[in-house]
Amino acid sequence: MEIQAPKGTKDMLPEEAYKWHYVENIFREVSKNFGIREIRTPIFEHTELFLRGVGETTDIVQKEMYTFKDKGDRSITLKPEGTAPAVRAFIENRLFNEAQPTKLYYITPCFRYEKAQKGRYRQFHQYGVEMFGSSSPSIDAEVMALAMNILKKIGLKGLSLNINNLGCPSCRPKYNEALKNFLKENYDGLCETCKTRFEKNPMRILDCKEKKCKEITKNAPTILEFTCEECNEHFDKTKEYLDILGIPYTVDPGIVRGLDYYTKTIFEILNSEFTVCGGGRYDRLIEEIGGPSMPAVGFGMGIERLIMTLDKEGIEVPKEPLVELYLSGRGESGVKEAFKLAHKLREIGVNAEINHAGRSFKAEMKYANKIGAKFNVVLGDDELESRKAKFKRMEDREEFELSLDDLESIKDIIKK
Ligand code: ATP
Ligand code: MG
Repeated sequence: MEIQAPKGTKDMLPEEAYKWHYVENIFREVSKNFGIREIRTPIFEHTELFLRGVGETTDIVQKEMYTFKDKGDRSITLKPEGTAPAVRAFIENRLFNEAQPTKLYYITPCFRYEKAQKGRYRQFHQYGVEMFGSSSPSIDAEVMALAMNILKKIGLKGLSLNINNLGCPSCRPKYNEALKNFLKENYDGLCETCKTRFEKNPMRILDCKEKKCKEITKNAPTILEFTCEECNEHFDKTKEYLDILGIPYTVDPGIVRGLDYYTKTIFEILNSEFTVCGGGRYDRLIEEIGGPSMPAVGFGMGIERLIMTLDKEGIEVPKEPLVELYLSGRGESGVKEAFKLAHKLREIGVNAEINHAGRSFKAEMKYANKIGAKFNVVLGDDELESRKAKFKRMEDREEFELSLDDLESIKDIIKK
């Protein structure tokens, strides 16, 4: 029987690779503009990291983690998100001793055992950014500006930025009390997961995807009625910095985000279908994972959802030319010359292809056309004797006669 890929996974096929390269190049380029350096952490971590780092009452920890015992009887979890591992690496490698802030980015697969559906996979990919060591609201705004900048560079238009203030350990408990009072009457109508959240972290109930829970929380009091002066000031300044950059946003007191560690600013960037990017400030996480007390802010952007949005908005991504030159050898010495020349041209950066399939000359020309080769050249006895050949540009059939020994000139014409 044919073996199929596990549910919720997706192959990235060669024909769509150019889109991934396009967005990944933009991630790397814009990260550089913002002084952010790359970090790569393992695919798996000790489960304990996510229990502490993501939070017991989150969907991720309660339902979604790929956790297993390895052969040494350790509890291991495939990374469901990138922040806790980045924080772990920051602490373990003592990066906090360097000049701050530390600005990091990563492009990583993430694993969550979720109900597979459109834009929701069990293995997906994130571009994420974390900035450690600054409590200034300007860095909250910078992180959002960075995300928006990337989306703009990619060419996306139909996305909006929603922000909220989640408060801090001094004001959030008052809100939690008010929320519990409000939810008390409808406790029995909540889903089982939310019942466990009621005592431990009632705010998480606002993020529940169950219809019945959504209905119950519709008119709940909002956090913005309870935030303390310091949090309000931080939020106002963050908004001011966004205004300076002319970045439009909406304050949405309904967003609470899926992770427990957030404090103060949180944000989401979404289209009509789903959230593409989510992030915020998490001033207590570094300390909770065992590092020094240090503020932090960051986000994660879902790459599959980003590419789906790109397709939906009909954005034309420049295709990478796969074959720049197709070399066709006539006769045994022609075939050998094509083999050798293709190899030499590849060495200097030309994408060259030859006949490996024993095709007839006619079939070769058809094939060169089909794969969209930019140029072709035929190497037979005459060409070998004169050491010259006609390089034909497929698009307009223009021919360039060039020396077979002048590789740089061949490259120049082909790359033009
Ligand atoms: P959602 O509310 O859609 O479940 P989330 O709050 O769990 O999202 P985060 O943990 O903040 O999402 O992850 C950041 C981004 O990663 C999301 O905005 C989304 O683009 C992407 N993402 C999250 N889960 C998945 C998934 N299962 N499949 C594909 N992309 C995902
Ligand atoms: Mg989720």
